[in-house]
Amino acid sequence: MLKLGCIADDFTGATDLANNLVRAGMRVVQTIGVPTAPWAAPLGGEVDAVVVALKSRTIAPVDAVRQSLEAAAWLKAAGATQIYFKYCSTFDSTAQGNIGPVTEALMEALHTDFTIATPAFPDNNRTVFKGYLFAGDGLLNESGMQNHPLTPMVDANLVRVLQAQCGRMVGLIDYRTVALGPEAITERITQLKAQGVGIAIVDAIANDDLMRLGPALKALPLVTAGSGVAIGLPQNFGMAPTPQSSQLPAARGWQAVVSGSCSLATNRQVQAFIDTKRPAWVLDPLQLAAGVDVVAEVLAWAMPLLPQGPVLVYATADAASVKAVQAQLGVEEAGALVERTLAGIARGLVAAGVGQLVVAGGETSGACVQALGITHMQIGPQIDPGVPWCHAHSEAAGQGIHLTLKSGNFGGDDFFTKAFTHA
Ligand code: ADP
Repeated sequence: MLKLGCIADDFTGATDLANNLVRAGMRVVQTIGVPTAPWAAPLGGEVDAVVVALKSRTIAPVDAVRQSLEAAAWLKAAGATQIYFKYCSTFDSTAQGNIGPVTEALMEALHTDFTIATPAFPDNNRTVFKGYLFAGDGLLNESGMQNHPLTPMVDANLVRVLQAQCGRMVGLIDYRTVALGPEAITERITQLKAQGVGIAIVDAIANDDLMRLGPALKALPLVTAGSGVAIGLPQNFGMAPTPQSSQLPAARGWQAVVSGSCSLATNRQVQAFIDTKRPAWVLDPLQLAAGVDVVAEVLAWAMPLLPQGPVLVYATADAASVKAVQAQLGVEEAGALVERTLAGIARGLVAAGVGQLVVAGGETSGACVQALGITHMQIGPQIDPGVPWCHAHSEAAGQGIHLTLKSGNFGGDDFFTKAFTHA
């Protein structure tokens, strides 16, 4: 029976949460969107948590609420006894939401008058102190997030930020209470409820704080947080870290990397792969726009090389080249064209026998997963922080494949070769 049901407001954030749960001892499956069929318990029923990956961070609040309620209803029907709403560790939201509206809608649906909210993730340098969120050594609103194009975060005081999005009163469980342990936290929750507080921001500056917080959340029908709080929850279900939780079927097939991320980290990873003298093919977006059948060309190039080891196909480029392409094709058109092409290549590679695939880029991952006909993935061992191997049934392969989806800034420079030593 399912224990924990999770709803994540974006795709790579869902994997990040799943990865933390696996490391804390749970067997986890991530679904792409709300499943259309009832829970059929893959893995012989041995799944402790399901993470439903939505793309609801910046859509209209009314749509985010609807999708989140659908996800919660599906998870409850599957047997989840607690729901975890996961958002970004930089609390990405606008004055309208979507963290507040989704939290309140879930509270109503789950008939609960209290929950917590904390994006703290000390392993990732996100800490909350006296209700203020720090990203690295500075306050959130001095971290660069104040300039985010979609969700500018201009106030680091999360009580104020969340209060602006909520009808219910927002309060604080501060570091002094958290330091005293689960009983003190539970007592503070009782006090806050008596004062009419519906949602409490929780301070946490180290993993120990999250481990003390965990037991105090046992009775809550709803937890809302970044991925950090997940490290303290499996203990409530009698679970502890074990190598079994990350076990996947044996890896098979050839190895390939498909990269559409243009982040600084991914640019370094592409260069490091090329430096090892392994085969790499660079896509030229202008050639794609001219209608050349690059997918067929790339597949013909890759086929004789695959038996010798991993190949890389990339559109990854530095900021100046991307700007030049965007100026000619338009930002959205260029992005969609490259995503479509990389997804076609991923599908072709998998159909030809690639069984271990690395995809770099959040949007690129979305396009590839769709092209591969993947509806859910089992989460396996971590390659680098926040990026695990996954195992999924692919329509394109007609069988299971190993897959890792790397969001832009994650992973060390050697990620594209290191990944295959961890499969
Ligand atoms: P990240 O996780 O780094 O943000 P994404 O895959 O989400 O990566 O986004 C990268 C976007 O850039 C995608 O839409 C991709 O198609 C596009 N892109 C990749 N290479 C190029 C390029 N050479 N020129 C223009 N756009 C590109």
